[in-house]
Amino acid sequence: MRMIICPLASGSSGNCTLVTFGRTQILVDAGISATKMTNALKELGLSPCDLSGILITHEHIDHIRGIYVFSRKYGIPIYANMGTWTGILKRDADIPEQLRFAFETGMDFYIGNVNVMPFAIPHDANDPVGYRLRCGELSAAVATDIGHINDAWLSQLSGVRGLVLEANHDIDMVRNGPYPYYLKQRILSRRGHLCNEDCGRALIRLVNEGTQAVFLGHLSGENNTPDLARDTVTGILRAAGIEPGRDLFLSVARRDQISDMVVLDEAML
Ligand SMILES: [Zn+2]
Ligand SMILES: [Zn+2]
Repeated sequence: MRMIICPLASGSSGNCTLVTFGRTQILVDAGISATKMTNALKELGLSPCDLSGILITHEHIDHIRGIYVFSRKYGIPIYANMGTWTGILKRDADIPEQLRFAFETGMDFYIGNVNVMPFAIPHDANDPVGYRLRCGELSAAVATDIGHINDAWLSQLSGVRGLVLEANHDIDMVRNGPYPYYLKQRILSRRGHLCNEDCGRALIRLVNEGTQAVFLGHLSGENNTPDLARDTVTGILRAAGIEPGRDLFLSVARRDQISDMVVLDEAML
């Protein structure tokens, strides 16, 4: 079996990651318009009708923008916990009830043959989660919108083969940048976003525990650049004896277009 991870959009303007295990195709978040998601899938030779489900991390608009139209038009099941559902339905209640699936954070479930584990992350939303997906020896995770490193979420990522991990901002760029004070406080708070340095630190542990492919995701448009995120994380990994390109595949997820694609084959492991 093959696993594919491909971010279709990443950042505060919209997040959406495609993860497939064989024929089971899953989106984690649907924060771009239904048209953009359809076009992105088409570019990859896929159709929205083939999706097995959409997993929602939390109710912020950059993670749910497209689900309303997408669910009505294509009848795709949507999975979220009750806190997130409350936020989703407050914005627009017009999602067919038979497509709404609720889980409990920390309780795993299955979409087809894929085991899904939603785990808690520190972020300023109702009940935000990251996801670990597993099928046989293959596993992937998406973890963005994370205020700080803690062992609870980091241990959930242990041994995961492929990963989208947040590298949101450079702390100095936030401090010296144009954002109003309250917004700076929000980004830097323990329930805000993960900075480049913390992302690098988390990755030292994860690569040592078996992670082979990493996308840096949810980059800020104002307080980060793809080069800065990559260079900062690369520097931290190198200092720990880990060489991107040799010891892991490292890529920065693109904001408004399809990113690189990671393909892992169970037979190669
Ligand atoms: Zn977000
Ligand atoms: Zn958020």
